[in-house]
Amino acid sequence: MPRPILATIHLGALRHNLARVRQAAPDARIWAVAKANAYGHGLEHVFEALRGADGFALLDLSEAQRLRALDWRGPILLLEGCFEARDLELCSRLNLWHVVHCTEQIDWLAAHKTHTPHRVFLKLNSGMNRLGFTPDAFRAAWARLNSLPQVDEISLITHFSDADGERFGQQGLAHQVDAFVATTADLPGERSLCNSAAALRHAPHHPALAADWVRPGIALYGAAPDHPERHPQQHWDLQPAMTLSSRLIGIQQLQAGDSVGYGSTFVAPHAMRLGVVACGYADGYPRHAPGTAEVGTPVLVRGVRTRLVGRVSMDMLTVDLTPVEAAHGPCQLGDEVVLWGRSQHGAVLAVDEVAHAAGTISYELLCAVSPRVPMQVVGT
Ligand SMILES: *Cc1c(COP(=O)(O)O)cnc(C)c1O
Repeated sequence: MPRPILATIHLGALRHNLARVRQAAPDARIWAVAKANAYGHGLEHVFEALRGADGFALLDLSEAQRLRALDWRGPILLLEGCFEARDLELCSRLNLWHVVHCTEQIDWLAAHKTHTPHRVFLKLNSGMNRLGFTPDAFRAAWARLNSLPQVDEISLITHFSDADGERFGQQGLAHQVDAFVATTADLPGERSLCNSAAALRHAPHHPALAADWVRPGIALYGAAPDHPERHPQQHWDLQPAMTLSSRLIGIQQLQAGDSVGYGSTFVAPHAMRLGVVACGYADGYPRHAPGTAEVGTPVLVRGVRTRLVGRVSMDMLTVDLTPVEAAHGPCQLGDEVVLWGRSQHGAVLAVDEVAHAAGTISYELLCAVSPRVPMQVVGT
């Protein structure tokens, strides 16, 4: 038998989550953000379920090529645009739309030889201060692009730094929205502002925010952009698109005072049974997930919520079997363990909860699932 670790990708969940975003922004078209290999789910795995979106947005030219190889003829947007001048050749050949966020990218376009002018998304730096033209420089950039024969339509894009915050007000999105509106008010072209957090939290109350295109990423994969304030299943009705599961490969009986794992960070307060699980940090499970007597990280064993104990090692982690055996009787080798996602026994553990316990966010855990973990795709 192969080592029992497995990532399962749920096509039904992806479709459901796409429909949830459509509900939140019914008049907008949807860029399914599929960068980082579809947030670790595998571009080829999610494609069938997300092709109901209006376009795919990603970063790597190689990912755009993979989408065209899947025969996706619809829009593809490169969210960071080109990284060097010769990338434009592939943009022309594959008909990729691309963000333009700096003057160098305009210089490259001006020098580019193409028969088909490009659709570009000119990026405003409305306050995130990573990519984009400042409000002062934006209109000159627009005018220059508009004068280039290499450029067809110019759309307008910006990205929020605080869309997951509680308030729409000046501490939240409003100052960025104001900067965007003030800078672009009389310019033609389609507009795109919202990531998952803005689309779910704010677009339903401020429909103009959704504009022409929304750009959800994490919500499509069933995690919340704003956990722990809001839970992806309980609050947003999203479904996990990935289950990371494994099995018990060992069972240990500890006596009071015995410890487990490297550094002996967990000492049994009383006699207890532990399960040894075939999953470790080399699979992408976070090594910093806590497993001391005071704080644990949630895990499902046979669908029952229990907790990590001791340190996560490269290939294994250990869990407390007490609540599981109290509910269902003795555990045995081969019993199902769900690190996040959906148990075959019906329970769901949000990746957000595991990430929160480990001091990170769902995005990082999903993207970090290691290549050694086999993936299977299921319809549900
Ligand atoms: C990654 C990304 C998104 C999607 O963000 P989520 O928080 O995952 O919804 C949207 N827009 C841009 C520019 C991005 O880089």
